Formats: sequence, structure tokens, C-alpha cells
Amino acid sequence: MTEKQSNWAGNYIYGAARWHWPETVEQLQELVIRCRKLKVVGTRHSFNDIADSPEDLLSLDHFDPVIVLDRERRTVTVAAGVRYGQLCPYLDHEGYALHNLASLPHISVAGACATATHGSGDRNRNLATAVSAMEIVTANGEVIDLYREHHSEEFNGAVVGLGGFGVITKLTLDIGPAFEMRQDVYENLPLEQLEDHFDDIVSSAYSVSLFTDWRSARFNQVWFKRRVADDTAFELEPELFGATPATRQRHPIASLSAINCTAQMGQHGPWHERLPHFRMDYTPSSGEELQTEYLVPRQHAFAAFRAIDRLHEHVAPLLQISEVRTIAADDLWMSPCYQQDCVSIHFTWKKNWPAVRQLLPVIEEQLAPFKARPHWGKLFTISPAQLQSLYEKLPDFQQLLRTYDPEGKFRNAFLDTYIFGAP
Ligand SMILES: Cc1cc2nc3c(=O)[nH]c(=O)nc-3n(C[C@H](O)[C@H](O)[C@H](O)COP(=O)(O)OP(=O)(O)OC[C@H]3O[C@@H](n4cnc5c(N)ncnc54)[C@H](O)[C@@H]3O)c2cc1C
Repeated sequence: MTEKQSNWAGNYIYGAARWHWPETVEQLQELVIRCRKLKVVGTRHSFNDIADSPEDLLSLDHFDPVIVLDRERRTVTVAAGVRYGQLCPYLDHEGYALHNLASLPHISVAGACATATHGSGDRNRNLATAVSAMEIVTANGEVIDLYREHHSEEFNGAVVGLGGFGVITKLTLDIGPAFEMRQDVYENLPLEQLEDHFDDIVSSAYSVSLFTDWRSARFNQVWFKRRVADDTAFELEPELFGATPATRQRHPIASLSAINCTAQMGQHGPWHERLPHFRMDYTPSSGEELQTEYLVPRQHAFAAFRAIDRLHEHVAPLLQISEVRTIAADDLWMSPCYQQDCVSIHFTWKKNWPAVRQLLPVIEEQLAPFKARPHWGKLFTISPAQLQSLYEKLPDFQQLLRTYDPEGKFRNAFLDTYIFGAP
């Protein structure tokens, strides 16, 4: 028995009986062959049991964090356990960038892609869409390579794989030229402005995030992340649909120190120090928290905000902060943005699961008419049947999982419930 370990937020204790830290692919293959039920964790930033295993759990933390650049193909290949915070400074130094990042750089590339982790931006698809190849150790211990170019349908099924296909050991990601950005924060945007101007606001920068505590009908902060070119001067508008520029650096949770956050106030800097909200060497978000997020088809954005606003008396007391982002459609079967542009409504809750668990069904009922899909790595209470009805590619995904893992070695309670559970 290994001592019990928890996820990053400390709200979930992994039930796995044994933990393993293989150092090489050979050791990993031997482990996969030997174990009956096995799962792999990334950096443990998910809030639910998606990464747990009933028997054996492994981490790739002791693998060599290899990063190989291919300038000709414009790709980078990384060991799956590498964190964005390790990868991005290297890429930037070599003159390259990823298309987008999540709010924090602390998460592993494999873990983020497996759950369709996203940042914001009308034209930015989730992080998994950058994956062009994967090396996987499958249930029988075989090492296989999957390429977007050669296995397109299967590939689209396996990238947001929820940890069900085997142990991903390497990922190849698309990269582009490095770019500079600036970040500007506006404060006090009235909610009603979003009825007519949501598109204007979210399309006005490369990546836009709106934060509200739902205490009143306003967004407390709007973060604009803009790409800057050396030759263009940029004038900040003194007012934007009623919101005004912040006069100092902000944390999305007003009571917390902005030292944890990436530089604002229009200061130019590299893409990887502006796209995330939080800095690698500081605690992201609040640390003492729970998280939930629902992705709603873009056309329902304002109606969904109104639906949450109607619940504000119940939401606000349990909330630290809520964030709205936009994500472009993709073709990955289990991505909540599969073939639909989405708006995401995220909640950073106080760490009070009994109360949050009571409230989630109420929020989910309000968002159900919009076919809201929960983030795979966060907390939700919708029924397996309802969740399954939201994914048209679910039968294909189930079939693909059965092909890769006929005995269900990489299945856990989460997959059994939400992917294979009887509707
Ligand atoms: C403070 C905070 C901020 C966040 N911000 C965002 C955000 O901005 N946007 C967003 O979309 N989400 C966000 N999240 C959620 C987070 O991105 C996801 O939960 C993500 O999955 C975490 O990655 P991880 O490396 O910790 O993976 P884990 O939680 O450890 O694992 C997640 C899944 O990946 C699988 N997995 C991991 N490694 C491998 C591998 N090598 N092979 C096969 N499967 C693997 C696991 O089995 C599991 O199914 C945030 C979470 C926190 C705590």
C-alpha cells in the first residue's frame, strides 16, 4: 500500500492502492503488462476522480522531460508529463509559441489535452487541438504512434481521451512564431451591455476573460490579452461599454494579491507570460477552492448569463469568482466544443462541497436548455444519461476505447459512470 495522496486542491483523495513512478518506457511497459487496473495522473489539477484508479496509479514525473523541436515541420515533441511552464520558456527562447494556454502554466501537457483544457479567444481552439501526434503505451504493453495526418478520425477520438486509451508518453504539438502581448484590465462592465455587445467585446482582443462575482449585475473585471506588433501604437480606450481601465495590477479575486498574476497595465511581454492569468512560480487561482465549468454553444451566451444571474442570491455566497471565456469549435469527439463555438462559464467556489453539491443541480437545470457540457476535469452533478446525450460521437468513442483497451485496464469509476454507464 502507498500512502494516500490528494489532488492539487486537496478536495479529492485518490483511492488507488499503489502508486508507481517509472523512469523509462521499458519500466512503464512492464508495469502496464503486470497491472490489472491502471491509470496515469498528470499534475493532479483535476477536481474530480477522472485520474483515479481502483488499483494502480502511475505518474510520469520521474521520466526525462524531453523536449525536441522540429523547425522544418513547426512542431515540438514533449514527454507527456512536461508542464506548460517548463515547455513555454524554452519554445519562446527558440522563437516559437503555442497558440494558446490555460489560466495557469502549472499543468501537464498530457493531462490538459486529455480533458480538453482551454484558454480564451474567439479564434482559439482548446489546447488539445495543437496535438499532431501521440506515442501511447497501450493495455498490452505495446508502444504505438498515432498521427493526425494518417489516422484522422481515430486521432480525433483519442486526443481528448480522458485517460482511457493507455499511457501517453509523448505528444507532438503544432507551434508558430513567438509573439509579444500586452494585457489590459477594465473594471465594472454592466451585465446588460453583453446583450448587444458581447461579440464586440470578446472579439476585440486575441484572448478575453470576463470575471464576475454575481453579486450585482456587472462583470467586475474584463481582461484583454492583445498581440502587439513593434510598429503599431495602441491607444487604450478611456471607456468601454461603461467599463473603465484598472488603475493598478489586479487579481481576479479582488481580495488576493496581484503578485500571483501575469503582468497587466499594457506592459509588453512574451506570449507565455500574458496568456495565462497566473505566474508559474506563484499559486494559481486561490488554492483553497473547488471549480466547476460549463460550456454552452456560443449563440446562447447571453441567455446563459441571465440564467445564472437569476440564481445570484444562491451563487454569490458560495463563490470566490466566476470567469467567462470563448473557445472556437474543433473536431475532437469528446471536446465540449466539438463542432460548435462555445462560451464557457466557470465558477471558483469556496471549499464547501456540501453546499456546492446542493447548488450544482440547480445551475445545471438552468443551463440544460442550452445543452451545457461540463468541463471533464471539474465538479459537476449532471446524470450520466444526460451527459452522454450531449456527445453525438459517444458511441464511436466507446467503440474506440474498447478496441484499444478490450479488458478495461484503463477504465475507472469516472469512465464506467460517465462514458460506459447505462443511460
Ligand atoms: C487552479 C486551476 C486552474 C485551472 N484553469 C483551467 C483553465 O484555464 N482552463 C481549463 O480548461 N481548465 C483549467 N483547469 C483544469 C485543468 O486544466 C484540468 O483539470 C487538467 O486536466 C489538469 O491537468 P493535469 O496534468 O493536472 O491532469 P490530471 O488532473 O492529473 O489528469 C487529468 C486526466 O488526464 C489523464 N492523463 C494525465 N496524464 C496522462 C498521460 N500521460 N497519459 C494518459 N492520460 C493522462 C488522467 O488519467 C486524467 O484522466 C484548472 C485547474 C486548476 C486547479
